[in-house]
Order: sequence, then structure tokens, then C-alpha cells
Amino acid sequence: MIKFNEPLYTEQGVTYIVDAIKVKKRTNGDGEYTNKCNKWIETNFCSQKVLLTTSCTHALEMAALLIEIKEGDEIIMPSYTFVSTANAFVLRGAVIVFVDIRTDTMNMDEKLIEEAITDKTKAIVPVHYAGVSCEMDKIMDIARKYQLYVIEDAAQGVMSKYKDRFLGTIGDIGCFSFHETKNYTMGEGGAVLIKNPDFVERAEIIREKGTNRNLFFRGMVDKYSWVDIGSSYLPSDLNAAYLYAQLEEATEINNSRLSAWNTHYALLKDLENRGNIKLPVIPEKCTHNAHMFYIKTENLEVRTKLIKHLKDNGISAVFHYIPLHSSVAGRKYGRFHGVDKHTTKESERILRLPMYHGITEVSLRRVAETIYGFY
Ligand SMILES: *Cc1c(COP(=O)(O)O)cnc(C)c1O
Repeated sequence: MIKFNEPLYTEQGVTYIVDAIKVKKRTNGDGEYTNKCNKWIETNFCSQKVLLTTSCTHALEMAALLIEIKEGDEIIMPSYTFVSTANAFVLRGAVIVFVDIRTDTMNMDEKLIEEAITDKTKAIVPVHYAGVSCEMDKIMDIARKYQLYVIEDAAQGVMSKYKDRFLGTIGDIGCFSFHETKNYTMGEGGAVLIKNPDFVERAEIIREKGTNRNLFFRGMVDKYSWVDIGSSYLPSDLNAAYLYAQLEEATEINNSRLSAWNTHYALLKDLENRGNIKLPVIPEKCTHNAHMFYIKTENLEVRTKLIKHLKDNGISAVFHYIPLHSSVAGRKYGRFHGVDKHTTKESERILRLPMYHGITEVSLRRVAETIYGFY
């Protein structure tokens, strides 16, 4: 059986976990490994302020709290995304305004954002699907023109770039995921990256249950107390220890994923030339991180048959998001602006192939041969 995903494993990660438990004897939040991870991301991605969180979902919730979303505010985002992108803002009372996607990258179509803006719009939330960047120059220009916040859902975009900048560091706030299914993992976890300096101090407070505990530890106040709303968004240092070992190897891990991605692409290129499938498109300005490898079939019917054919041959391949605007909660908490020209249609064509760190050349060849066999 060729699995769709295998979580990244490193021996060094286990060594660091044991170190946190047995030697440092400190496993709660904001210990040595959490700080190391924060600093690593700040230094390597040129981010002013990074805080590990318990998930990307929670990083997005922190973003909604930081930009002070209130009842009736509108947030613009693609419908083709994970539920957390929308939920984080709906929890604060926002209405989600979905816009259509581009067919090449499956990212929100930046040309449709401006007409979706109303006097209630508070933020734009670009989602970098498959670790391939949205058109950030255009999105930042629109945000500046209408004084909107930009919250990047960079859950899949760790190590990816737009031009020479890392994803997650371009908007006011960026959100990473370190879930088991992502390129770097701490089991469940994430990070919030703060660019807008107005949010730095409050981010620490919101993440620490609304207290100024961090200022207390730094000796800046003589006791800590409840100063704002907040929750517990800080992960255990055990999880951070596991992640830190992967960050130390981030370039090697990224290169190895890219090499598997390029092999998939080269092996399947002929099928695209023959007009059977579509391969992913990486725009010139984007450096991706091989988070995902997908192909597009002609339509839903062909995709369903191909999934079965792969399964019968011991290969697990899966589709992805059901567009949020067509879901029960999406209809209740959001609306689709304009016409759904591409979102539903393209979402029904996508088929994600096995893609993980350490996938063998033999497996990649078997996947390609099986797909050729189908056609
Ligand atoms: C994985 C993912 C999330 C959620 O990440 P968690 O860390 O599991 O909360 C949010 N948005 C996108 C686009 C994702 O791919």
C-alpha cells in the first residue's frame, strides 16, 4: 500500500523530547524549545515576532482577536479552503464573503477582491494553497487602498516564498500549521507571525489567557494579572522540542520534498501533453515548498473512477475541500460574492497524489504507471 501521507519522523526530535522531560524538566508552554522555534522562524524568515501556537486554527483565532473583529464585520476569503480559515472569524461574529478562485493555482482571484469590498469589510484572508503564493503585491495594494488588514493563512506555506519574501511575513499577521499532515510537524501545532507592530504586545497577552505573564517573566511588571480577553494558545514544550529538530533540518527536508514533487511532475508530463490531465502551475514569482502534488482530471466522474483504480492498485489518493459556500455552515455564516465560475468545478477535478518526505522513487514510479494504466 502506498499511503497518501506519512508524518515526518526524526530521531533528533525524540532526543529533544527526552531532553525536555528528563534534563530540562520543563514541559509546559514557553520553555527552551518553544523559544528556540520562535527565534528560528524569526531569524530564517525575517519576521519581527513569532509565537508558536497550539494549531493554525488557534493562530487564526488569535488574528481575529487581534484585529478586534466584531458582529457584522466582513472578511473576504476564498471558498476553496479549510473550515478554520472561516471559523476563526465567524467565532467573533463576522460574516464571510467568499470570492472565486483562479484555475491555475486554486488561490483566491485577486481581481475579484475589490468588488467584494463593502464599508463593513475588515480584512482579506489569502490562503496559499499547496504552498503556492497568492498574488500578494496586488492584495497588499488593495488592502492599503481600503485600509484593510491582511491575514495570511500560510498553513501549507512554511518555507515558500513570494518574490524574495517568505509566506506568512507579508500581511499584518501570518498563520502557520505544524499539524501532522503538514511539511513540518509537532503533532498538533502552529505559529502566529506578527508583522504589524501594533499587535506584538497584545499577541503575547491573548496567547497567555489574557494575562501579562510574559511581561512578568521578563521582570517588566512585578505581578501578573488579567488585562485583556484571551485563551490558552501556547503549546507544550514537548511538541516544540519535536518540531525544533525538523526546523534545524528544514532546508534538507524541503529539498527532498521538492525532488519528489519534480519526479511526480516529470513522470506525468506526457499525460498532460496528451490532454488527459492537468499538472499544477507554479507562477514565476512563487517559490513553492512541495506541500502537495495534485493533478486535475477532466471532471468529477473521471476522478471518482481514477481514485478507485488507484485504490484497487494499492495507492491512496484523495480529493480535497468541499467549497465552504456550499456547506451547511458556509451558507449560514457567509455569502459568495459574484458567480462561482471555478471554485466548485475545479474542486471536483483535483486529485492529490501520495506526497511526503521520504517517499521512494519506486513508489513515485508505481503511482505514475498506475495512472498511465488508467488512461
Ligand atoms: C491545515 C490547515 C489549517 C488548519 O491547521 P491546524 O494546525 O490543523 O489547525 C488551516 N488552513 C489551511 C489552509 C490548512 O491547510
